[in-house]
This record gives sequence, structure tokens and C-alpha cells, in this order.
Amino acid sequence: MNHPASERSLKTLPGVGPQRLAQLNKLGLLSIEDLLRWFPRDYEDRRTVRPIAQLEEGAAVCVRAVVADEPRKSRLPGGRTMARCRVFDSTGMLQLTFFNQPYLKIERGREYVFFGKPEFTARGRGMINPVFEPAEDPKATGRLLPVYRAAEGLSQNQLRKWTRAALDQAKGCYLEPLPAHIVARWQLCPPEKAFEAIHFPENTEDVAKARRRLIFEELFVFCCAGQTLRGQGRRNPGPPLTYHDPAEFFAALPFSPTGAQRKAVDQAFADLCGGSRMNRLLQGDVGSGKTLVAAACAWLTVKNGKQAVIMAPTELLARQHKATMEKFLSAFDVPVELLISALPATEKRRVTARAADGEPLVLCGTHALIQNSVELPNAALIVVDEQHRFGVGQRAALNQKTDRGHLLAMSATPIPRTLTLILYGDLDVSVLDELPPGRQPVMTRMVSEAKRQDMYGFLQKEIDAGGQAYIVCPLVEEGEEASEKKAATAYIDQLKDVLPRLRVGLMHGKLKPAEKETVMAAFAAGELDVLVSTTVIEVGVDVPRATLMIVENADFFGLSQLHQLRGRVGRGQRQSYCFLMHSARTETARERLQTLCATNDGFRIAETDLRLRGPGDFFGRRQSGLPGFAIADLATDMNVLEAAQQSAQTLLREDPHLASAPLLANRVQEVIQKTLASSMN
Ligand code: ADP
Ligand code: MG
Repeated sequence: MNHPASERSLKTLPGVGPQRLAQLNKLGLLSIEDLLRWFPRDYEDRRTVRPIAQLEEGAAVCVRAVVADEPRKSRLPGGRTMARCRVFDSTGMLQLTFFNQPYLKIERGREYVFFGKPEFTARGRGMINPVFEPAEDPKATGRLLPVYRAAEGLSQNQLRKWTRAALDQAKGCYLEPLPAHIVARWQLCPPEKAFEAIHFPENTEDVAKARRRLIFEELFVFCCAGQTLRGQGRRNPGPPLTYHDPAEFFAALPFSPTGAQRKAVDQAFADLCGGSRMNRLLQGDVGSGKTLVAAACAWLTVKNGKQAVIMAPTELLARQHKATMEKFLSAFDVPVELLISALPATEKRRVTARAADGEPLVLCGTHALIQNSVELPNAALIVVDEQHRFGVGQRAALNQKTDRGHLLAMSATPIPRTLTLILYGDLDVSVLDELPPGRQPVMTRMVSEAKRQDMYGFLQKEIDAGGQAYIVCPLVEEGEEASEKKAATAYIDQLKDVLPRLRVGLMHGKLKPAEKETVMAAFAAGELDVLVSTTVIEVGVDVPRATLMIVENADFFGLSQLHQLRGRVGRGQRQSYCFLMHSARTETARERLQTLCATNDGFRIAETDLRLRGPGDFFGRRQSGLPGFAIADLATDMNVLEAAQQSAQTLLREDPHLASAPLLANRVQEVIQKTLASSMN
């Protein structure tokens, strides 16, 4: 809350009656402050006034001209209307066309300033749907005008008028929420200036200064909220476990853990035995060996006479986890059970009864674990694998069942390090930044259409040498229901013409989950040589014999997505390959794919991806999966984010309750409440 405007109603604005108020409320705008924080998405540059003779096609400009004739109105098919008139200045004539403006009021003989995009046609110079104002008393001309996100039933002019009035009301009432030393340290302009300039700037430098302040403030508040949540989480009591040296567990493994795995296990064990609840995100590139860390935690949990639950997004993955747990824990006589909906009823009953008994065991499963009939009275550890595949609600449900056990969330989605805190502010993070030894990086190449036959030759050789291959061919064009299957089937037919000996399976988006799993299981069992898929292949499935990944229309995917796909191979001892089929038309498209060929580091790729995707428009906002910021854009504001994070950390270390900055504390509480509320549904 920057000033009393947070309490003041929008009804105090000129021309806002019940109907307008309802429209504004629908946009989430309840107070004057909300309106002030409804930031422009762009600006209209009305600073340049050009003589008609000097107009150039393209960018919108202002023209000061006199109306030469009454607008000629005509009706168009479909109930549309059109009006045209000519205007003059001392250098030439401009033809104006107005579509669908039946109430157009423009006087012959009067001088106006017209703002629009000049268009040159055979009939001469023109403008379509210019906006205009009388030349003797221009209000908008010569300025940068804010452009707000389109809002149904509200015009830009109305929004501008109300914002102007709101700014006038708020004048002199702004309070600085940020501590003075931080304002000084980052040379931030005062809030009053920032709000004025973000809506009605004098020039572009004004905009830049205002943006810098507002972006910093927004990210700073967010970082404070995340870190406060994390601090509170640490204070929640969790089932205390007695420590056992993980060396005992490691000694029974078929291989020796990586340094990163050891470190992650140490961090998790410290949480588990520390008395407060573990809330840890384990991040690691595909193949980095996250399952081993989960197994170590499960080992400690069962050794303490408690249950460990592992939830996976698919039945196949759940089965795979069960097999892995049995392998890793075979020396310790730890029971491992599986709970998925595909089980026969009697088996389900047996497993749920065992779980409800509270017997110490490891229980792997899918969302079947969170059904009402399942009781987990003795569970002290929940592992959520590929956690981004689960809704917050599903995680919360599992949490409830285990009566607030320790949480280990695992994710293979590489997120730039700087973003982790903001996305998972309430979690502690362990990173597996080291691949198990002996793993050769996947050799990645871009392949053009001309080399297709060579590539098929290579494919056959890989299969003959005992390998398996994935081919991902996305349906690039949107089509009717059947077309996805048809396109994929056509692809397979063509493949079989070239390589008749291959055993090929098909996975497409229209298959039911159970059917998908059957195909995937056949591939995993080696009953198929090639798996053709029109969709992204299930995450996390481990098929060590697969050594070749071919991605058709690779330019169709994001870099991080391609990296995830590539992670499906390179899981065994043999050299693996990834071929990116492309028809890269532009240099940037080639450059993008080149990044993948150059590095296997998922975090670096994610950073490049974020950078190359760039801001969508002038401000670029709201990326999926990321918190919705009013003004900050994580694709471009990474450096500000780092600064904000650093400052937030320092401040909270000195003043954990923000007692020295009550306004900031309020804002941080608001964000925390919002975060908690969204994690309830
Ligand atoms: P992800 O992090 O993608 O879930 P997994 O846990 O499935 O990775 O591990 C990938 C593969 O690497 C598995 O086959 C696993 O047995 C193997 N692995 C894990 N840790 C090691 C290690 N330290 N040394 C050798 N192989 C390992
Ligand atoms: Mg995994």
C-alpha cells in the first residue's frame, strides 16, 4: 500500500457510475491504487507532427490539417459503414477513411490534428481510422500516450481520463514502501514520479526510469514474500527422524553416487532429522539420478519405522520407480509396494490395507494414492516426481493424507538458477548439477531435408547394432480430429517403405492414457525398434537401449522442450545421438537449434531460451508457468531480479519481520496471502 489511494473507491472518478464500476471491477480493479497499478502495455508516440508532403509510410504520426469537405458516408455489406473526407495542409492533401464510426463528428473548415499510420495507394496519401482532436486546443498531441490492455467496453480514452484523475487525486499522498538505503543503493526514483511517468511520460527516458523503479519494487516485494514463506516453512514441525549415516545405503548400491547426489542426500537428511518439516525441491537435468536421492530418503524413513510415499505422474513411471526402489533397497529388506488404478481390486485392497496398518514400507504410485479410500497414517515422507505435472491441489491432498510429512519434490524442468527462488520461493532447493560418470553427452546434429536418406541409413545401423530409436513428429498444422493419427500413420508407412525390417510403434495424442502406457511399455521391453510419437514423449521413462532421437520439424519446439526430448536417450553406456530435422528459414531459427548442438547443460539452454524468446511486445508480460507480474518481465528483467533478490536477502537477515519497513511488510503479507490462497485450490 503506497498511499491512502488503496482504500479510495473508483466511484470518485468522473463518469464512473454503477455500470462502469462493474466493468472496472471485472478487470480486478477495485481501488484507485489498483487503477494506478494497471500499467500501460505500450505508448502511442504523438510527439511528431509532419507536413503532409513529408509523410512516410509506416509508423503512426500526427498531421495538422483542415477538413476540406463534409464526410461522405456510405453503407457496406454486413451492416458496416464507411465515411471519407479530404484534409489539407499547406503542403498537400490527405484522404481520410473512417470505418464503422456512425457517430463521427468532424467539421468542414476546421483544423484538427490527426494521428494515424500514413498509407500510400494509387489514389494518393491516406489514413485509415485516424484519431483526432481540434488543433487549437490539443491535449494529446506532442505527448506519449499510454496504451492499456484492451478491456471490453472501455475505450483507451476513458482509461486515460480515469488514470489522469486518479493520479491527480493521489498527488502528495504517496509513501515510500522501500527502505531508504535500498532506494539510495539502486538509485530508484520516488514512487510519485514513477507512477506519473509510467502513465504520462514526457519522454522515453522517463518511461525507463519509472519502469526500473516499479519493476524493482515488484520483484523485491516478491522475493521478500518467497523468502519469508521459506523461513516460516522451516519453523513448521515435521516428524523427526533419527539420523543414520547414508554411507550404509550407498555401500549397497551397484555404483558409487556422484558428488552432487551425496550433497543432495546430506541436505535432505539434515532436513529430515532437524525437527522441522522438509520442504525441498530437487532439481536435476534428465538423467542426473534424482531417483537415487529419493531412495536414500525412503531408506532413512523406513529405517525409522515410518512409511515413504512416491507419487509419479504416470503408471509406467510408478512401476519403474517400484522396480528401481526394489533394486536400490534389496540389501535392506524393505518392502516396496505399488498402488495404481490398473491393479486388480484384490491387489489394491491388499496394498491399501498394508498402508493403513502403518507398516513401514515404500509405496510407489500415481494419483491413485490421493483417493479417499487410501489411508497413510504412518507416512513421514512424500516424494513427488516430475512435480510440475501435478496441480498444487493434488500435492496439497497428498500432504494432508500424510499429516504433514516431509516433502521432496523432484523436477527435471531446468529453470535458470536466478528464477528458482521466484518460482519456488517457499522451497529449499538442491541441484544435481553433475551427471553420473561414463555418461557420454548426446551428440546433437541439425539435419536438413537433403540428408534424410542418409539419416534413415544411420537409423537402420543403430537398430542393427542393438539400439532403439524415438521419432517425434509433431502435427504442425491444426487439423480435424482424425488428421493427427492419419499424419502419423502416413509417416510410418513411408518409414516402412524405406526400412521394411523395423518394428514400429505409434503413440499419438488421441490415445487413452492406458493405451499410451501399453505402447510405451512395449518399447521399454524392447519389443519395438522405433517409437513414432506425435506428442511429447512421457517424461522420466528410462529406456537405456534407446540411443537415437529424431525430432521432425524441430523448429516447432522450444529449446527446453527439445532438451527434455533429447534426455530420453543417452541413458545407457553407448554413444547416443539426437537429430534435429529442420527447415530453418531464418538465421535466428538456426542459431536457436545450434545452441542445442553446442551444449548439454539444461540450465544454460533454459537461459538462452528465455533470452531468445524475448519480450512479446513493448513490455512483454505474463509467461505461462511464471507468476503473473504487473510490470516485471522475467525474460528481460533478470538483472533486476538478481539485484532484488540480493537486497531482499540482506534485509531479511537483518530484519526478519520487516519491523523497520511496515509498509513493505504489508505488501509482502499481501503477496504471501495471495500465494497461499492460490495453493489452496
Ligand atoms: P532422473 O534424474 O532423470 O530421474 P534417474 O534417477 O532415472 O534420472 O537416473 C538415470 C539413470 O542413471 C538410471 O538408470 C540410474 O540407475 C542411473 N544412475 C543414477 N545415479 C547413478 C550413479 N551415481 N552412477 C551411475 N549411474 C547412475
Ligand atoms: Mg526421473
